[in-house]
Amino acid sequence: MTFDELNLIRNIQQALAEEGYKNPTPIQEQAIPIILEGTDLVGCAQTGTGKTAAFAIPIINAIHPIVGSIKKVKHIRALIITPTRELAIQIGESFDTYGKYTNIRQLTIFGGVNQISQTDQLKKGVDVLIATPGRLLDLHKQGFVNLDHLHTLVLDEADQMLDMGFINDVKKIIKLTPDNRQTLLFSATMPLAIRELADSFLTNPKYVSV
Ligand code: AMP
Repeated sequence: MTFDELNLIRNIQQALAEEGYKNPTPIQEQAIPIILEGTDLVGCAQTGTGKTAAFAIPIINAIHPIVGSIKKVKHIRALIITPTRELAIQIGESFDTYGKYTNIRQLTIFGGVNQISQTDQLKKGVDVLIATPGRLLDLHKQGFVNLDHLHTLVLDEADQMLDMGFINDVKKIIKLTPDNRQTLLFSATMPLAIRELADSFLTNPKYVSV
C-alpha cells in the first residue's frame, strides 16, 4: 500500500513526500483508516513501529478543515497524553513535520519547567495539545486548559503510564473530556489494568496489533 491510497489531504501528502515516506508502516496501514472513520482504537504497538504518525496523520487530516473554517474561536480539538517529556517533545515534532502545510496550532506541555510560556500559548489558542499527565491536570486546575470541545483523545504508551503511577491522573483527565470524544489507546503491552481502562473508557473500539 502507498500513502496515496489513504485519501489524505494534499497538505499532508506533500509533507510525507518531503519526508521521503512512500509506504505506511503496518500500524499506520491498519490504524489510519479506522481513525479517519472516527472509530475508537486500541493499538498494540511499540515505539519504532511508526505509531506516532499512525495517530498524528489522521488527527491532522480531520482537524485541518475545521481550523481553516473557524476564524476566532479556538478550542483544543485533540489531546495526546504521554508519560514522559521526551516522548511529548517527539510527538510535538511529528505534528510539526506532518502538519507543516496546515495552520494547526499545536503545543507541547510538560512539568519541570516554568509554565509561563505554556500558559501564554494556551491563552492564544491551541488546536492540538500534547501533554504529560501531571502538568496537564495542574494547568487545567488553574483554568488554562478547557477540554469541553475535544474531538480526539490519545493515550500514548498506556502501559508505561501505568508503570509510572499515572493511571489515576489519566482517569481524571479522561473525565474532563466529552463523552462523545474519539479515544485512541496505544500500548506496547496489554496488561489487565490497560484492558480494563480500554473497557471502561473506549466505545466499541477496533483492535490493531503489530
Ligand atoms: P515511532 O514509532 O512513532 O517512534 O516512529 C519511528 C520512526 O519511524 C520515526 O523516526 C519516524 O520518522 C519514522 N517513520 C514513521 N512512519 C514512517 C513511514 N511510513 N515511512 C518511513 N519512516 C517512517
